[in-house]
Amino acid sequence: MAKKRILITDTTLRDGEQSPGVNIVADEKLRAAKQLEILGVDNMEVGFPATSPDEFKAVQMIAGAIEKSFVGVIARANRKDIDVAYDAVKDAAKPRIEPFISTSPIHREMKLGKTRDEVLKLAVDAVSYARERFEYVDFAFEDATRTEPDFLYELTAAIVEAGVCGISICDTVGYIQPPEFGRLIRGIIDRVPVLKDGFPYLSAHCHNDLGLAAANSLIAIENGARRIECTINGIGERAGNASLEQVVMNLVTRSDYFDFETGIQTKEIFKTSTMIAGFTEIAPDAMRPIVGKNAFVHEAGIHQDGMLKDRRTYEVMDPHDVGVPNSLIVLGKHSGRNAFKRKVESLTFTLTDEQLNAAFDEFKVLTGQQKQVVDNEITSICEKVLSGAGTH
Ligand code: MN
Repeated sequence: MAKKRILITDTTLRDGEQSPGVNIVADEKLRAAKQLEILGVDNMEVGFPATSPDEFKAVQMIAGAIEKSFVGVIARANRKDIDVAYDAVKDAAKPRIEPFISTSPIHREMKLGKTRDEVLKLAVDAVSYARERFEYVDFAFEDATRTEPDFLYELTAAIVEAGVCGISICDTVGYIQPPEFGRLIRGIIDRVPVLKDGFPYLSAHCHNDLGLAAANSLIAIENGARRIECTINGIGERAGNASLEQVVMNLVTRSDYFDFETGIQTKEIFKTSTMIAGFTEIAPDAMRPIVGKNAFVHEAGIHQDGMLKDRRTYEVMDPHDVGVPNSLIVLGKHSGRNAFKRKVESLTFTLTDEQLNAAFDEFKVLTGQQKQVVDNEITSICEKVLSGAGTH
């Protein structure tokens, strides 16, 4: 049976760019946008034009350069913001807008000073007004996961009526647990049955404050969400957003379990990650799944021995599938004789068993003194062992 297509909205250049300390300059944003298009994102959210003239100009530049992906912008739920957003993105081949408003009691009372009815009216008006300009209008419920579910049902039904295309259910503060999020998504779809047909659709926008952004995105898909909003390397406000690469590679790696696919060209992931790390000056953590520098590196002897026999013993993904050149076997104190022998052979030395044992002993002495042993050091150990052979 054909898998269901999940849409990917990348918000690296909007939510990701809101990461503390990050400021991607306009020409880098353009290069990143072109790479995101090659990566195959369905929609790229590239800015919030009402925030500054620079932001407006960067959005305009990207809008003029992207052909295949939708180019989206966000706006507060008011006509002035929507007008500015429209001016910034109107020349895109496929323009798109996502107005937003906070829906939770704490945001309504403490931040907006508005009642439920006022929030509902602003949301409906924003969608209707935006639809006069845009064919595709999304709408985001900020802090949706701390909102009364019955209010979310009411809001969703009202903006569907007003002509919305995608509804973002935002876990803005990274608070909800996966089973709860699954039930919330399912509950909205059950009460607004038109969502069952797949258009309009629900979208999940998850943050990673408790480390659950990717898990929450996946359970949203399983419960009927048709779109995920995510970023490269998981960058974003505070602890960041759901990682595009994590969500996509779960669907790919566990295609035996998930009945969903995306349009992402996974071989472009590593290149995109490296580019975004450079522009943001934030390198992924070494142990970050898929894109971290240790994600495909093996040092423990038993693991190295398994890897040399068959990669699948200790890797669930082939690094080539995400564009990482090779798994790395790093020689250190946990490395075993088999990995050491392969390394010696790869450096084109031919040693007898006795010489190899001697070299391995020397190597172990070195690993007691330093964390990793590089090729040059192994070369000198081999040369020493070989020259020693003729002198006694
Ligand atoms: Mn966000």
